[in-house]
Amino acid sequence: MTMVVERDNNTKVNVVMYHYVFDKDDPDFNHLKGITTEMLRSQIEILSKEYTFISAIDYLEHIEYGKNLPTKSCILSFDDGTIDHYKYVLPILKELGISGYFSIVTSVIENKIPLYVNMIHNILEKFSPQDICHHFNALISRKNYPQEKLLLDYPYTGYPYDSKERAAIKYQLNYCWQPNLTSEIVHEFYKENVDPESEFAEKFYLKWEQVIEMEEEGMVFGNHSHKHTAYSLLNEDEIVDDLKQSSKIMRKNIHNKKSLSLFTYPYGTKDSFNALAMEKLKEFNYKITFTSFRGYNDSKTEVFKIKRNSTSDLRYH
Ligand SMILES: [Zn+2]
Repeated sequence: MTMVVERDNNTKVNVVMYHYVFDKDDPDFNHLKGITTEMLRSQIEILSKEYTFISAIDYLEHIEYGKNLPTKSCILSFDDGTIDHYKYVLPILKELGISGYFSIVTSVIENKIPLYVNMIHNILEKFSPQDICHHFNALISRKNYPQEKLLLDYPYTGYPYDSKERAAIKYQLNYCWQPNLTSEIVHEFYKENVDPESEFAEKFYLKWEQVIEMEEEGMVFGNHSHKHTAYSLLNEDEIVDDLKQSSKIMRKNIHNKKSLSLFTYPYGTKDSFNALAMEKLKEFNYKITFTSFRGYNDSKTEVFKIKRNSTSDLRYH
């Protein structure tokens, strides 16, 4: 029998989602879409006027056992385990006594394989959408995948901060193509035109010793999958395999065992996961999962669909 814990009706939880946070002089990051350390500090200051910062574990305990939370609580969450979270975010959160929630992709840290989602960000900053389409389509025909073609006018409006053409490219690569194809084409293009991949992985992501140090400073880590593929593109066996591998690596490396109940969907949009993914997460004993659905959480929030507000939205308030 599952026990249903009543959550306090008045408690509102605002989870804010961040990706890149960098020093404006850092050449590995400052060409990417993200926010500077100054912007992070000023957002925290604005948020702190209205909210009390809590950790992801506080929220888990609120959901599991009805632990009391401040009426207006806020969690700062940082996705994808990039090195800027150690270099720039950790010192700020440490100074302000805030516990951030960091979602990490296990294959990246364990096997040093860069994520195509991060490589695509770099490619989009270095090449025009027209150039990307031209090169990618040439690579596809060379590889004999005649069924796919990257289109500049693919209709998609889900990336409000990108031009229509950039959004079209991101959407097709992240949600429409088979993950193996995207991975192969992006890696190949990257090798030929941008950087040696091994160097990229080495300088761009967290290492386990940094994760451990961040945990010791009170930061919380959650599983963000093994390969960062949208679970909606995977079949049941592939989801189980991804969860098996990532959960095992998390268990081996993460000290705070409560963190092993936390999951953040890759991408987290409605196109990126489904009922099957939620069912498998339950089977693997995950208790709460974070999406990229916008909004605030209250007692009616489904615990496998926790909403997050993007920092990009905050910028304009
Ligand atoms: Zn992610």
